[in-house]
Amino acid sequence: MKTIFREYKVGDIIFRQGDPGYCAYIIESGLVQISVKKDGEEFPIVVLGEGEIFGEMAIIDRLPRSATATVLEPCRLSLVSQDSLVERIQNSDPVVRLLVSMFIRRARNMTANVGRANKPSPSPDITTKLGKTDKEALSQVRFESEVKLAFAQGEFLMNYQPIVELDNSQIVGYEALIRWKSPTMGMVRPDQFINIVEDSAMMIPVGRWIIEQAMGDLVHLSQAQGRPLFVSINISPRQLADPGFVDHLEMSCKAVGLEPERVKLEITEQIFLEGAAAIGITEKCRALGFKVALDDFGTGYSSISYLKELILDAIKIDQTFTRSILSDPRVRCITQATISLANALNLECVAEGIESSDVGKALMVMGVRYGQGYHFGKPEPLSYYLANKAAA
Ligand code: C2E
Ligand code: CA
Ligand code: CA
Repeated sequence: MKTIFREYKVGDIIFRQGDPGYCAYIIESGLVQISVKKDGEEFPIVVLGEGEIFGEMAIIDRLPRSATATVLEPCRLSLVSQDSLVERIQNSDPVVRLLVSMFIRRARNMTANVGRANKPSPSPDITTKLGKTDKEALSQVRFESEVKLAFAQGEFLMNYQPIVELDNSQIVGYEALIRWKSPTMGMVRPDQFINIVEDSAMMIPVGRWIIEQAMGDLVHLSQAQGRPLFVSINISPRQLADPGFVDHLEMSCKAVGLEPERVKLEITEQIFLEGAAAIGITEKCRALGFKVALDDFGTGYSSISYLKELILDAIKIDQTFTRSILSDPRVRCITQATISLANALNLECVAEGIESSDVGKALMVMGVRYGQGYHFGKPEPLSYYLANKAAA
């Protein structure tokens, strides 16, 4: 933050009520009195000392000074320029920005009421005064609490999509995919709400619930198929930062009598950006027998460079590649190179988003062993598979 210093003597007026505001002040030493003039009478509101900031309101909301600042004891002040403060606030989280502007509005309201004996003015309807970005921030906060409430009320459920061996279409496992069954919005897909969960502390309990559901349901899915299958669980970086993650994973596995080899953790490139700790956790999981797959392979910036990290058992070729291997020779070329590389490195290859038997066959010829997509089965709840087994 750009700062310059200025010295003031006792009695100096730093700024007057009604002046335009150009900067805010931080008190390095000395005392400053803030007062408000009402009907010709001066009302002191507060005396500020070392380390406190004042004069920030007028430069944030660009309205005239709402009070007068007078020096009570010789002062050394550092000046904070309008640009540096406004820039910081504008770059902050939209919810923080909204809070700052609401606090300022309330503070202005309070100074405007000084001198009116015990007669608070009616609170202005802030929603009518909010700008577009403020409304967006509010609706984000509202949506976040709806998502939290939905989880608490048991509105989340897991769906399972089959993963098959391409040469015989036999199911070898399932990917666990979350859904939100909202009483007002119907079935909500994860791309509508999972980012909100992943960006908040809620991800820890939700992530644990996903793991417990997926492991418990895998036992039933395996029974329904008559053989041991695996489950792939999407793990977000925030979950790996939970110090209890590995213990919880192990305990949940033991609780339902599952071997760790039958649980595959799907991570994305993002975790490599989280640093050594996240990578260390996945290595710990592998040492315990869990499998690790790199999801959405090829969509990030440097997918290939991560293959040398040796912490993976499998890669999932993203559906953006699968979708156009028959129509786009360049995509076909890149996909072929990826598959050859994965095979040479002994990494299992799973192709996502297979919607036709032609695409499945082409991928198999290209060297992919496993596939997933609407052609083989859509994500469905456990009850669907149990009912189908009963009907069979
Ligand atoms: P993802 O991990 O890449 O999951 C695959 C997505 O592709 C799923 O979308 C699946 O329904 C969809 N899909 C599968 N086959 C086909 C196909 O043949 N054609 C098309 N067009 N789509 C297909 P979904 O379930 O909407 O999930 C979207 C994303 O949300 C997931 O992408 C994953 O990143 C995230 N997600 C889902 N469940 C969870 C979860 O339990 N935890 C976390 N952290 N993220 C999750
Ligand atoms: Ca996935
Ligand atoms: Ca994927």
